[in-house]
Amino acid sequence: MQQILVFLFIALSICPLEGQLLHEKLAEKYEDYREPIITNRRFKHKDVQGLIDQLPSTFKTETLGHSVEGKSIRMISVGEGPVHVLLWSQMHGNEPTATMAIMDIFRFLQADDQFNELRKELESSLTLHFIPMLNPDGADRFERRNALDIDLNRDALRLQSPEAQILKDIRDRIDPTWGFNLHDQNRYSTAGPEEYTASISFLAPAYNEAKDWNEGRTNAMQLIVAMHNVIDTYVENKIGRYSDTFEPRAFGDNIQKWGTNTILIETGGLKGDPEKQFLRKVNFIALLSAFKSIIDGSYEKHTLKEYNAIPFNRSYYHDLILRELQVKKYGKYYTYDLGIRKAEYDAAIGEGFYERAYIADMGDLHNYYGYEAYSLSGHYLKPGKAYGITLDSMQQIEKDELLALIKEGYLYFFSKDASEYQWLDLPIQLLEPGQRIRNEVYMGSNPSGLIASSAQSTHILLNGQIYHLKDDWPAIVELIGTFYQ
Ligand SMILES: [Zn+2]
Repeated sequence: MQQILVFLFIALSICPLEGQLLHEKLAEKYEDYREPIITNRRFKHKDVQGLIDQLPSTFKTETLGHSVEGKSIRMISVGEGPVHVLLWSQMHGNEPTATMAIMDIFRFLQADDQFNELRKELESSLTLHFIPMLNPDGADRFERRNALDIDLNRDALRLQSPEAQILKDIRDRIDPTWGFNLHDQNRYSTAGPEEYTASISFLAPAYNEAKDWNEGRTNAMQLIVAMHNVIDTYVENKIGRYSDTFEPRAFGDNIQKWGTNTILIETGGLKGDPEKQFLRKVNFIALLSAFKSIIDGSYEKHTLKEYNAIPFNRSYYHDLILRELQVKKYGKYYTYDLGIRKAEYDAAIGEGFYERAYIADMGDLHNYYGYEAYSLSGHYLKPGKAYGITLDSMQQIEKDELLALIKEGYLYFFSKDASEYQWLDLPIQLLEPGQRIRNEVYMGSNPSGLIASSAQSTHILLNGQIYHLKDDWPAIVELIGTFYQ
C-alpha cells in the first residue's frame, strides 16, 4: 500500500496536470490568453478591428457587410473541420462580455503550449466562425439597439436592419450545425428565488409556441448541461435558465427553427465584478469546453431532467437594498424596504460613464436581495437639505466648509457649473439653478439623506450609496477632494 502511495506521489509530482480536467487547466492558464488591449466593457468597434487586423493568416477574415453607419461587420473563421459552428456576439451593443471572451479565444488559438493537441483537434474537427460585435453602431454608443433604434433581436423576420440581414445571410450560407447567440442580461437577474445572481444564464430557444423538442433543440439542451456542469465550479449556484417563451421575431428562436442547434448565453451580474472581467473568463472556459464536448460527443449523455434542474431566471436583485427603513409620508412614518438600482450614463466629458441611482421598488421587499444590503430597523430617513445660495461655481465653497455642510445634512447644491461635475461619482447632488430637487422617497426618485436611529445620524445615503458617517468619512473626504484638485 505504502509503495503504491509513493508511486502515486511521484507520478503526480512529475505530471502535475495529470488528472486535472480540461476546464481546470484552462482556468489555470487563462491569464496567458486574456487579451490585454481590452480591460473593460466600453471598448469600441475600432478596438476590435485592430485586434482582428493582427490575426495571422490561419484566421480567415471576411467582411460580411456594414452597419447602418457604415462600420464593417467581419467574420473570422478558423479550422477545416466538417462541423460548422457559428458564434455571434454584441447583437445588442451594450452586451460586450462574450466579445471579450472571443478575443481571448483568438489568443488561445494562436498560442503554442500544452493545449496544442486540443488546438489540432479543434481545427481538424470543427470550422469555427466568429462574428464579434454584430451591432457596431450600438456598441460605439454602448446602447442596446442599432442606429435605426431597431432591436436586432426583434428583426429576424422583417430583416430591415443591415446587421440583421447579414446574420440571416451568413447563417443560410454556412448552414452551421451549431449556433451560439451571445448576450448579456441585466445584473438584477437571479438564478431562482434565492440569493444568487444569474451570473450566466442559458437557453435552448424554442422554435415554436408549443416549445417542442426536436433533435436540434435537444442537442442544444444537452450541450448546455455540459457547459453548466463545467462552469458551476466558477459561478456555483449562479447559473440560470432564460425564459423559454417563444419569441417569433428573435434570432435565437428562428435560427433554431432554421435548423441550427442554437444556444443562448446571457452573461449577468456578479458581485465584485462590475466590468465582468471574471465572467469573461467564465465565457472563455464555457465556449472552449463546449467545442471539446461537440468534438467528443460527450454532451449526448445529458438529459432533459438535468436541464430542467437549472433554475429559471427571476429578477430579485437590486444594487442596494435598505431594509425596514422608516420613511415619512403624509405626516406619518411607514416601514419601507427600498430597492435601489443605478443607471449608467455616458460621461459628458472624457470617456467612461457615471451612475445615477433610482428607486426601482419600495414596500415589502423581504424576499429580494442586493449587491449591498443594510438592515435599518429602528432607523429614520431624514431627507437631504438644499443649500440656500445658488453658486456660480462649486469652488466658492471651501473644502472644509462643504464637509461640515454634508455632516449637517446639506446634500443638494445649486451651482451654475453643475454640469461640469456630472461625470464624477459625487457624494453630493449638484443641480443646475432652478432644477427640481428630488429628495423625497418615491418610485424613480434618487433620494439623498441622513439616516438616524436617534438624534445622532449614523449613515448618509447618496446616489444609491450608503456611507457610514464615521467609518466611511475618509472616503467622503476623498471624493469631495476631487472638486479641489
Ligand atoms: Zn441581448
